[in-house]
Amino acid sequence: MADDLTTYCENTWCPGCGNFGIFNSVKAAIKQLEGKGVRRSDLFMCAGIGCHGKIFDYLAVSGFYGLHGRSMSTAQGVKLANPSLRVFTFCGDGDAYGEGLEHMLFAAKRNSGIAVVVHNNGVYGLTVGQFTPVSKRGFKGPSSPRGSVEEPLNPLALILEAGATFVARGYSGKPAHLTDLLVQALSHDGFAYVDVLQPCVSFNDTYKLYNESVEIVPGPAKSREEAIALVKRGGKIPIGLFWEERKEPFHKALMGDRNPVMNGQPRSERISKVKKLLEG
Ligand code: SF4
Repeated sequence: MADDLTTYCENTWCPGCGNFGIFNSVKAAIKQLEGKGVRRSDLFMCAGIGCHGKIFDYLAVSGFYGLHGRSMSTAQGVKLANPSLRVFTFCGDGDAYGEGLEHMLFAAKRNSGIAVVVHNNGVYGLTVGQFTPVSKRGFKGPSSPRGSVEEPLNPLALILEAGATFVARGYSGKPAHLTDLLVQALSHDGFAYVDVLQPCVSFNDTYKLYNESVEIVPGPAKSREEAIALVKRGGKIPIGLFWEERKEPFHKALMGDRNPVMNGQPRSERISKVKKLLEG
């Protein structure tokens, strides 16, 4: 069989789920990076908990499947331990903007050298439809039967204010455009953030809304302030790359060129320590 980066795991996403578009775009992006010489063994993924997290089971890349809302802290730890790896993490919108919000803000503030892909479906799908921090006001679900009375968070404005050096938004229904954004995010030397609009056909079907409303922006803004104004504007929903700048990533500012894993001890010693840990 052709190697298309898919594992043998049975896929249990609902038919029509926007997660399929994200999954296919991620695989296409990795293939493009491999075509440019990136080795798969240098990729490392993390995931949070939720429907999005199943991508960890389906994508044939090494990684660590951690706690709900904590995947960005895990990813930062991995990057610090071995800066040679390209570390990226998947989160849901509940995962990133609810349980893991502080991890996201501080990862952006310190320009941690990780890429974050948020599967933003505006609902807790795995637990059957509760509202999240980005659900629209009036959203009805098991925890808001009369409609949510909260205004939704604007995560892109927040992450820009926090200092992220690469901020983009894609749509799972525009996979070629999303693939391009992911290639750029995974090539960025610093904190790269891609929020992906993702319909949940079972609890928040937004296909019609997004198909009619998304609009690709021509290119990144000229200033951070301009980017913030762009993601706050009303009317059509902008997607694309909003902001990009070059800035020393956290691991370089902290350790220079030191790689704690590679420089710390010989490979044979590392393997023997891991074996000892596994033997308990
Ligand atoms: Fe996708 Fe929603 Fe089904 Fe989860 S519940 S797999 S997000 S359609």
